Amino acid sequence: MTDKSTFLTDRMLGALTRYLRFLGYDTKSADILSNGNSNEDTILLKIAKDEGRYLLTRDKELFMRGRSDSAVYIESDEVLSQIKQLFNSGLIDEEFFFGMQRCVVCNLKLRPATEKEVETASYAPKRKEFLHFMWCEKCKKLYWPGTHSLNMQKRLAKIFENQVHEKID
Ligand SMILES: [Zn+2]
Repeated sequence: MTDKSTFLTDRMLGALTRYLRFLGYDTKSADILSNGNSNEDTILLKIAKDEGRYLLTRDKELFMRGRSDSAVYIESDEVLSQIKQLFNSGLIDEEFFFGMQRCVVCNLKLRPATEKEVETASYAPKRKEFLHFMWCEKCKKLYWPGTHSLNMQKRLAKIFENQVHEKID
């Protein structure tokens, strides 16, 4: 098994960023930069290069500047098509493990939540038996297999069904 790809996404790719994190891919977003920096493209290119990340962008100009260094032009506006594109080009693979590996908000790797963290989260579901809780250290946020992640999984499963050996058309 090879190391998973790591990514840097531009500001137009918020949904894709959350999906990639959900799938466990280390994904930095341009949102970490302060707004309105006229050098933003240059900074993004530098981060991608320094950290060995694929730069994913909807911006043709940025793509042209970075294409010799692993910038990827994302063709569609629609997140599932974007995932498909990454899958077809081999940047993400079917070895992915569904869900709850990274915080979708901040990209930090989740760890199993302690009993106390589950207890103190007022928004945790009442019935806790059989649920597997994860915790983001930075956001102090509790994750569990709930509606949100199930929805994401269902949508992803549609893309990936029957695709174990064949790439998607
Ligand atoms: Zn977080």
